[in-house]
Amino acid sequence: MSETTIAAISTAYGEAGIGIVRMSGPDALGVLRKVFVPNGSGLKQTGENGLDGANATVDQLQNSVDSAEDAGTWVPQPRHMYYGRIVDPKDGSVVDECLAVYMPGPQSYTGEDVAEVQCHGSVISYKKILALMLENGAQPAEPGEFTKRAFLNGRMDLAQAEAVIDLIKARSARSFDCAVGQLEGMLSQKIRAVRAELLDLLTELAVNMDYPDEDIEELTYGRLGNRISLINDELIKLKESSAEGRILREGLLAAIVGKPNVGKSSLMNVLLREDRSIVTDVPGTTRDTIEEQISLRGITIRFVDTAGIRSSADKVESIGIERSKDAFNRAELLLLVLDSSEGISAEDLELMEMAKDRPAIVILNKDDLPAADVVIAADGVVRRAADGSLEDEVRRILPGARIVKLSAKTGEGLLQLENSIEEYVTGGRVRREEDVLVTNVRHIALIDKAIEELSWAGRMTGAAEARDFIEVNVRAAFDALGEITGETASGEVIEEVFRRFCLGK
Ligand code: GDP
Repeated sequence: MSETTIAAISTAYGEAGIGIVRMSGPDALGVLRKVFVPNGSGLKQTGENGLDGANATVDQLQNSVDSAEDAGTWVPQPRHMYYGRIVDPKDGSVVDECLAVYMPGPQSYTGEDVAEVQCHGSVISYKKILALMLENGAQPAEPGEFTKRAFLNGRMDLAQAEAVIDLIKARSARSFDCAVGQLEGMLSQKIRAVRAELLDLLTELAVNMDYPDEDIEELTYGRLGNRISLINDELIKLKESSAEGRILREGLLAAIVGKPNVGKSSLMNVLLREDRSIVTDVPGTTRDTIEEQISLRGITIRFVDTAGIRSSADKVESIGIERSKDAFNRAELLLLVLDSSEGISAEDLELMEMAKDRPAIVILNKDDLPAADVVIAADGVVRRAADGSLEDEVRRILPGARIVKLSAKTGEGLLQLENSIEEYVTGGRVRREEDVLVTNVRHIALIDKAIEELSWAGRMTGAAEARDFIEVNVRAAFDALGEITGETASGEVIEEVFRRFCLGK
């Protein structure tokens, strides 16, 4: 338990209906008593100044210098809201009307004594109340310190604490849902279950090494190898979810590419029009390329503009081209747009060449117009598309790409495009409610490490190496997984995790 009592503004810093300033630590109630005067209790109890807290005017209250001290004996019922005023004990001046609640530990967010003040949503009010708390014994909280205390006091594990920040920062409904699942402990339970199996294995290994002659079931290399590979399979399955998890968390970076006039802007516009969710600005995204963000079926998609990626002699244009190339290279998914009414031109062929081995969806746009099933080479030679269809021609050039026929003008085909994008994100897997999705890069790296250690252990078992060597790798996997939930995380790792938090959380 912490010795200090911390205080911070917990709601967003700006105009609002209400704002919350909260404290956590052994002196939370002590500080609250110094600055909060409950209406009709603290004041009326004393009777000395003859004021009825419930009916007193602000002026009267300001003159009742003793009132804050009187309130010092106030004993609130845990988890009950009290109406009253924040009063400066120095001069009795009233700061704001507010509600206060006291939540003694360990049944509080941090596991310590917590006191919260709900005031009017004015920046001046938050600041004054916080300043008063600090003057009267509290210390300013560091970012994430409330949640860090909750973790240190065993109220939640590290993965759950990380879910708190993911939940706050979630930009799409799906990533929010993932974070809620993680906060509920879905990932932690899974990790604990795998760790329990590993511990079991470590115990058995130890017993077999220490008492080889005792009458215990021998852990043969065959059985050991089986168990290691079963456990590793579970981790590999978990790891497979991480690609989708990461996209849900961070959004998918997609680039709409195509030569001029194929309908890129039109497509972007219909996608934006379709987006019925709230789209937020992304701070910190690249300034050099235009980035638009939409939410497609709960998945955030960030589109980078890649106008023109063909080489040019023009200097200014070249800079734009460099940026576009960079966006093209960074994009996780390419939406390559062709004008089906014109067929495939040399420029299109060049772009398709660049898109080879990249995840891509080829959009045959302007499907409302008659198709020109032709391919025009760089030297101007025109030939018919493979099997007479543009689709087949594209499939031949880009065998891995999904192909969607669409009209940005009429909106026809948009549904298929959305299906294709969603399919790309989910990898075509249908997820069940109880499936755990790993979304956090720190967790992904640790799962990778555990898989690697267990793979080593598996290979060494296959080669019938000494059991104490195998044990080292199994233990390393056990420890790596423990870092996810925090059991084996070092102080630096914990510091790093909470550094990402906002103030007051
Ligand atoms: P960009 O240069 O690739 O961004 O292309 P634009 O979106 O500016 O479109 C170029 C022209 O094609 C405009 O006149 C659009 O109205 C037209 N256009 C775009 N998509 C379609 C479509 O699906 N069908 C038809 N008929 N015209 C389209």
